[in-house]
Amino acid sequence: MHTADCIFCKIVTGEIPCAKLYEDGQVLAFLDIAPVAPGHALVIPKLHCADLFDLPDALGAALLAAQKLVGRAVMTALGATGLNVQQNNGVSAGQVVFHAHVHLIPRRDGDGLAL
Ligand code: 5GP
Ligand code: ZN
Repeated sequence: MHTADCIFCKIVTGEIPCAKLYEDGQVLAFLDIAPVAPGHALVIPKLHCADLFDLPDALGAALLAAQKLVGRAVMTALGATGLNVQQNNGVSAGQVVFHAHVHLIPRRDGDGLAL
């Protein structure tokens, strides 16, 4: 089910465009609009869930498989040697978009990022 005022639900339906990296029946991955590093990607369930606690366990395997697939692909494409996987839950933790998502952030030695 999609929520009318959710920006990521609108990306799932195509109402808002994205730079799509991967899609299957349950999951969508696309580039972050404000990347903290080149190749910064987001992996989201197509189903609207507010955060980790709202995410059905049954979606966990598909979400994890997509993180591995997309994470490896962006690392290879950009010659990255590491990957941060970050998932924010709640305003205090820095969550801004309340549709559960996982950040994939390619890393390189000495890139100076402080996450
Ligand atoms: P949060 O802080 O909620 O964990 O992260 C939300 C992320 O979504 C941010 O990194 C932000 O740049 C990204 N974002 C917000 N709106 C859009 C959008 O319309 N398109 C894309 N591709 N990313 C977005
Ligand atoms: Zn949503």
